[in-house]
Amino acid sequence: MNKPVNPIEFDALCEPLYAPRKAVYPQSVSGTFRNIKWTLMGLGLAVYYLLPFARWDRGPNAPSQAVLVDFPNRRFYFFFIELWPQEVYYFTGLLIVAAMALFLMNAIGGRIWCGYLCPQTVWTDLFYAVERFIEGDRRERMKKAGAKLTVRRGAEIAAKHTVWLFIAWWTGGAWVLYFADAPTLVKELATFEAPVAAYIWIGILTFTTYTLAGHMREQVCVYICPWPRIQAALTDEWALNITYRYDRGEPRTSIKKAEELRSRGEPAGDCVDCLQCVAVCPTGIDIRNGAQLECIMCGLCIDACDNVMKKIGRPTSLIAYDTDVNIARRAQGKPPVYRFVRPRTQIYAGIIVLAGIAMLYALLTRSYLDISVRHDRNPLFVTLRDGSIRNAHTVHLLNKRRATSTVELEVEGLPQAEVHMVGQDTVVPGMPLIPVGPDQGREVRVLVTVPPTAKVDHSTPLTFRATNVATGETAVAKDHFIAR
Ligand code: SF4
Ligand code: SF4
Repeated sequence: MNKPVNPIEFDALCEPLYAPRKAVYPQSVSGTFRNIKWTLMGLGLAVYYLLPFARWDRGPNAPSQAVLVDFPNRRFYFFFIELWPQEVYYFTGLLIVAAMALFLMNAIGGRIWCGYLCPQTVWTDLFYAVERFIEGDRRERMKKAGAKLTVRRGAEIAAKHTVWLFIAWWTGGAWVLYFADAPTLVKELATFEAPVAAYIWIGILTFTTYTLAGHMREQVCVYICPWPRIQAALTDEWALNITYRYDRGEPRTSIKKAEELRSRGEPAGDCVDCLQCVAVCPTGIDIRNGAQLECIMCGLCIDACDNVMKKIGRPTSLIAYDTDVNIARRAQGKPPVYRFVRPRTQIYAGIIVLAGIAMLYALLTRSYLDISVRHDRNPLFVTLRDGSIRNAHTVHLLNKRRATSTVELEVEGLPQAEVHMVGQDTVVPGMPLIPVGPDQGREVRVLVTVPPTAKVDHSTPLTFRATNVATGETAVAKDHFIAR
């Protein structure tokens, strides 16, 4: 028989597993942090939309786009840098530097990335600016949200979504320009002659930008992005975070009451409970409740509160970048101390410098000639009629220069071996000369044969050395000679 369900437990089971979304209507604000955000947004968007049109002369037969992901030719171009698929380790280095930079920012100034640089923040901010321009500031938008639909209101909604979609479409359009010659692709897109993939990607980016920045907004930061959780685990008591200085703000009271209390010599906090800091917050939280996962640390509540403090003649920075250590020190009447140089910041900075130096060194000393070797698997070796033993290898040569290179191939490790390249007569015995076209790879079959008189082990290490005859540049690859 089934156990009867306790009505209290039953009620608990019926509770929804998520909280309904509270609409956020951030109010416009002016101040230092707002100006920083406008500046970074302008710079970021200008770079994103215009960079594909920047040119870089790489000589004849090479693309002149400064930043280009060239999938058909399997290349990545970044100004003077040209990377081949074999050099994907540079991206690993770049990812390490990016991760450490994020950790360093966090250890010094909290979620700087989230508040000022993250694409989700930048595009959401842009979409809010459009919304404010068309529908008005916080109060008007709140009023309109619950109002009846009129022709004027319908026109406003249509105008807002049209501009949002235009920005989203432009965002997708700029994205595809990084994957082909931008001016050519723009012409092809305009005349509907571009590859289908370009239209598909523009469609995907238009949809994601419109949805994430126009509709999901702060929900992306709160529910989807993993960084707030990781950041919370990485922060420490010395990191600057946006903080309400409750020791100065409490007890909260109205301006009038605060003046009365102060005139009587009684304590009164600087916070006048005006809720301006909440009104401007893009995630709709009250920073006076302490550090919260939802806080992207954009600094707009600092601007709002500073404006209020200036109006009521109280010192600014009631909400400010502060550390846990300084909160505790102020409570004890001690002056603030700041420690930007501490083990974790030194470690993060050290890794950035080391990875940066390693990447720079690898870049400056990179070879324009590359070689890789694959041994035939079946059969591993062949015994010829005269008793000689032959191994076959596939050698892949890469010439990253913009001119044809003649490559001399030497096989070291078996002095008595004869090396022959299939399809080409050996010009110098044991050293085939192989022309490799400009900016191309070439695969050749190489046969290594030892005479019956030679004494060889079951497996003998071989070194394949490729030398550019003109420049003397060399590249090596290892393999084995299998005899039994
Ligand atoms: S803006 Fe400043 S004064 Fe107003 S509620 Fe927020 S903390 Fe208090
Ligand atoms: S609490 Fe302040 S810093 Fe945090 S998200 Fe809101 S406005 Fe930005």
